[in-house]
Parts: sequence; structure tokens; C-alpha cells
Amino acid sequence: MSLHLYDTATRAVRPFEPLRPGVVSLYNCGATVQWYPHIGHLRGAGVVYDVLRRWLAHSGYEVVHVRNVTDIDDKILSKAAEAGRQWWEWATTHERAFSDAYDTLGCLRPSIEPRATGHIPQIIGMIAELIEAGKAYSAAGDVYFAVRSDADYGFLSGQRLGEMQQGESEGAGKKDAADFTMWKAAKPGEPFWESPWGPGRPGWHIECSAMARNYLGADFDIHGGGLDLIFPHHENEAAQSHGVGDGFARYWMHSHWVTMSGEKMSKSLGNVLSLPAITEHTKPIALRYYLLSVHYRSSIEYSRKALDDAAKALAGIEGFLQRVADRVGKVGHGDLPPAFVEAMDDDLGVPRALAVVHDRVRVGNAALAAGDHGAALTEAAQIRGMLAVLGLDPFEAPWVNAGSDDGLHAATDKLIAQLLADRATARAAKDFATADSIRNALAQAGFAIEDTVDGPIWSVTNP
Ligand SMILES: [Zn+2]
Repeated sequence: MSLHLYDTATRAVRPFEPLRPGVVSLYNCGATVQWYPHIGHLRGAGVVYDVLRRWLAHSGYEVVHVRNVTDIDDKILSKAAEAGRQWWEWATTHERAFSDAYDTLGCLRPSIEPRATGHIPQIIGMIAELIEAGKAYSAAGDVYFAVRSDADYGFLSGQRLGEMQQGESEGAGKKDAADFTMWKAAKPGEPFWESPWGPGRPGWHIECSAMARNYLGADFDIHGGGLDLIFPHHENEAAQSHGVGDGFARYWMHSHWVTMSGEKMSKSLGNVLSLPAITEHTKPIALRYYLLSVHYRSSIEYSRKALDDAAKALAGIEGFLQRVADRVGKVGHGDLPPAFVEAMDDDLGVPRALAVVHDRVRVGNAALAAGDHGAALTEAAQIRGMLAVLGLDPFEAPWVNAGSDDGLHAATDKLIAQLLADRATARAAKDFATADSIRNALAQAGFAIEDTVDGPIWSVTNP
């Protein structure tokens, strides 16, 4: 089996074939940088596409990855104005918050992160082409896409003309309620760019059509985003790009959202589920594991318990790798088990792939308990290989600075070995008070001690 992906446009799982051999072009819609990210954004625009990208790279493809930044928008303007700040400062502040959050969750940086405001000439050029082709019209300084000029409109979302809402305020010159805005005439005090239709700024959808074409060409492989982008955003992007004769995306991927008590994330929930609020109690690698533990096409119902369970499951994997590293030696990256490859090729079946990881941990722990260090090392290497593909290898950046702990681990090792030797001496002398006090002191400092056939080993319990 080779990679198969579910395609929203054809509503089927299809074998993936890139347009150009060896190269995959991927565009996923990034944030409208009006506020700080919550974990729903970080799943839908971050970790899901990061795993796709890592899996494509592992499968031998070079990946050209574009993730845009929407840095001009009604909400950015109104929130900046409310806060008494410049719109560009507001947008930059929140763009940086998103960048930091993606880094914190171990997402590889895209090949490019283009901003809408950096592509006004390309946007104006595309709008002009659409007017020329009879697909768009200008009225009172605005420009609208004429939805009825596109016979395929609705192919992606299944929306029917007459039933749909573009979710934008009605402009005076709009001829049909189904039409949507590509260029907005500037209101007094708003930022603007000069255009053939007068001063104004781009609408949301046109930026992605123009930037995808600019960086990936008229046709590209995969277009992704969150489920809520299917309509109107992606339907409208496709209408514009098809309107100028571009083939646009060949596969459409949509990731589901994070819910809490069955509700899609709102701003108040967003604050509860912001990255700083979660990383106060959970390590970022555990949050990443949690966000990947549910298939990308299913919603995640957030609960603290589910997050804690995920953190425990990850700790079990990390504990095994650390034991092997401490007792057997350096763990390399092994080949991927066929069951793991099969799960990933089946529309990125990460939950099934993680089940394979846990199977190998069980086998590895049994080998370790039986003193079979060779078998334990082989299992550990396979596990590291699998985790690396998922961006969850605890021995790799950003989770550790391998080799740069200034000897702290080795020094801790010696100190704990001495304490454990003292405890063993005390027990041998039946001085249980001293033995218990040593054990309690270690526990209070956050060390868990486990007795094994090879003697006691330590690990750090979750903070
Ligand atoms: Zn987009």
C-alpha cells in the first residue's frame, strides 16, 4: 500500500500521486492573527499538517509547504482599534504568538509563511483577470465574485445557491446575495492600497488564491485547513482560482476541531485552552501527543482527564526509552514496523500507528525485564524511529537539547546511585527509618525509583 488520503472534494479515500515526481506542494491556511491561539488552531493549522509533512518526507518526497498569515481583516482592525493599537502591531503581536506556539509544539517551520499584505500586486492582478473573464464585477469601489458564473460552485462544500450565507456584510453594489467580496473599498481611517477600483484592501479568500499561485503555481497537490474553512473560504478560493483557469488543489484535506462539552471552541473556551494555560500543567510534548491521539478527521472532546491520560501514555513510552538508554546504551533510529507504515499510509492513521508504538513498548519492557538487552535495544530503536516521524521523539529537539545538559544527567545519576547505596546499606542493617527517609526525600524531589532485575533505576515524575 502507498499513501492514501481522504479527499473532501471527491468524498473518498484516494491513492496519493503528486503532480511532479518526488515533490509535494502543500498549502494550508494559517491563522487570521487577531488573537492568541488556542489548541483548536494549533491542531488544525499546526500539528496535523506537520505530521502529514513529516510522513511525506519520510516517504521520500521533498515537501514545499506554504502556510499563509491573514494579517489584514475586519476583526484585526476592530480589535486593534478597541485596544488603541496600530493594526499592524496588533497583527504582528499575534502572528508571533502563533509562531511561538507552533515551535513549542514541535511543528517544523513551513517553507514560507506569506502574509496577505505582502501580496497586494498579485491579488490585484488576479482580481483584474477575473473581471476580464466575466467572473467578477466592481461596484462603488468594491469588487465581487459573481458566484453564478461558476457552474461548479458548491463542488467542495455541497452548498446550493440560494441556501448559503457568505457570512459577510452586504455591500451596496452586490448584485446577488450569493456573491462574495474580493476587494473592499476603504472606509475612513482604515488602511488601504491603491487599486484600479479605488483605494481598498483585499477580502479574505482572494489572498489564498493569489499566494498559492505565486508560490506553488496554477496546480498544486494538497490544500488543507480546518473543517470550518470548507465553506465559504475554500469553496471561494477554488471558484476564484478555477475562474482564472488554474487547476488549483488536487487533494483537499480538512481536519476536525477541538470541542469542549460538545461545543466548538469559542473565545472564552479559547482562553481556557490557550497554550500557556495548558503548559502550566502539561508538557508541550504531551499536548502534542494528545492532539495526535485522535484521528485528524474526528473531533477531539477536550477534558483534563483525557489530556492527563495521554500524558501518562506518553510517559510510559518515554520511561521505556530512558530505561534502555540508562541501562543498555545509546538508542538509535530503527526501521519502521510494517504495521506502523500501513496505518500512516491509510489516511494518516496516527491513533493506529500509536497503538503499534505501545505494542513495541510492551515487548521491549518484557525484554528488559528478562535481561535481554539486545532485544530491548532493537525495540527502543524502532520506537524512536516511529516517534520521530510523529514529531514525538523525546530525545530530539525541541523536547531536549541533546548533549547540552552540561553533565547534569550524569551528575544526577551519581548522586542518586550514592543515595540508593546508602538506602541499601540502611536496609541491610534493618535501619528502616533511614531507608524510608532516603526514599521519601527522593520522591519529594520528584524522582521515581523502580527496582528491577538490574538494580534500581530512576526517572523524573511529571512536574
Ligand atoms: Zn485560505
